[in-house]
Amino acid sequence: MPSSPLDVIGSPLDVIGADDDFVHLDYAASAPCVRAAADAVHHLLPRYGSVHRGTGVRSQASTLAYELARDVVAEFVGARPGDTVVFTRNTTDALNLLARALPAGTTTVQFDGEHHANLLPWPNPLRLPAPASPDEAVGSLKGALDGLSGPVVFTVTGASNVTGEVWPVRELADVAHSYGARVVVDAAQLAPHVPIDLDDLGADYLALSGHKLYAPFGAGVLAGRSDWLDAAEPYLAGGGASAAVGDRPGELTWATGAARHEGGTPNLLGAVALAAVCDAFTAADRAVLHRQEQELLARLRAGLAGVPGATEVSLFGPDHPRVGIVSLALPGHDPAEVAQRLGREHGIGVRAGQFCAHPLVRRLTGAGRTGACGDVPGLLRISFGVGSTGRDADRVVAALATVLGTDR
Ligand code: PLP
Repeated sequence: MPSSPLDVIGSPLDVIGADDDFVHLDYAASAPCVRAAADAVHHLLPRYGSVHRGTGVRSQASTLAYELARDVVAEFVGARPGDTVVFTRNTTDALNLLARALPAGTTTVQFDGEHHANLLPWPNPLRLPAPASPDEAVGSLKGALDGLSGPVVFTVTGASNVTGEVWPVRELADVAHSYGARVVVDAAQLAPHVPIDLDDLGADYLALSGHKLYAPFGAGVLAGRSDWLDAAEPYLAGGGASAAVGDRPGELTWATGAARHEGGTPNLLGAVALAAVCDAFTAADRAVLHRQEQELLARLRAGLAGVPGATEVSLFGPDHPRVGIVSLALPGHDPAEVAQRLGREHGIGVRAGQFCAHPLVRRLTGAGRTGACGDVPGLLRISFGVGSTGRDADRVVAALATVLGTDR
């Protein structure tokens, strides 16, 4: 029996630098690089040239590679004809870009269970309490949208970076659309785990990060409807974003399409590596990957259930579908200290804290809705993905039991 997705699908999704002495269980922060990305970078490093800016063969080839990368990513996210696919630095960058491109007077609606990247950039926010069930989410969204006028954007995560729970995006998107609102999906944690498609999600826009998708840091994506993006001020004014510049200030024509928001020399290596991973995932059997991830999740959760002092947190209940992310409340222990000891004494990398989702973690830890940035104990998060094994799950369970059992 294969013990890892890698045994089934072979080399492009082989994790680079896997090390028996170290168990990486912090995929939700940044996933390890896979061979497809490393190979793409390795291939391009000795050959690259300036993108969109030169006539030399390297420049021409680099321009082609960059635009092909865009096509691959467009297909990976199910971009529709006429959609724009902008390369950004990461999800935070993509959502900030979009937030600044909204028509004046747009109201934005989001639940406070979001990562800060999907909570803080939005203008005129109407912030709803994180719901306790998908039904409550739908009801709460309907209530919020009822009576709003002017342009409205509803923005929601695909999967929570804290609980791993998959949000009922399609149902919420249908509600939002029935009120004429546009829908943004933060796919930072969804894309690494399940196939994503703008139409299937009911999304007008989608954002993701390369470094959570087994590619290097510094490349992300914003994909979606082009009208507002083409009408907005460029995200970064400068070369590339400008089509023609006159002699006097303000005498200029901005570019349209992705170029309008990609001012400056682009991150060719990041884009190409990200596209290589997208290709590798497209070629892989995602159903097999999903099944194996769910088996691993079940094994981890069963093990953790037997660790005294560790309590899994969830918003929608323990049976709600989730990706490979589990967060634990550790009453009586300092999660930061426990995480340190897991690393120092057991060679296991996890994350402790509030995971840039303070309102949600306050709620999950029972710290209440103080409305203030109070002192919250935080959680311990274990997250995994391609390359993770049952042995990793068993090791973290055993190590956690030891650490909690000896923590004074
Ligand atoms: N959205 C979610 C759900 C995340 O988990 C994260 C990062 O953890 C982000 C957005 C921000 O991603 P990045 O730091 O790559 O911009």
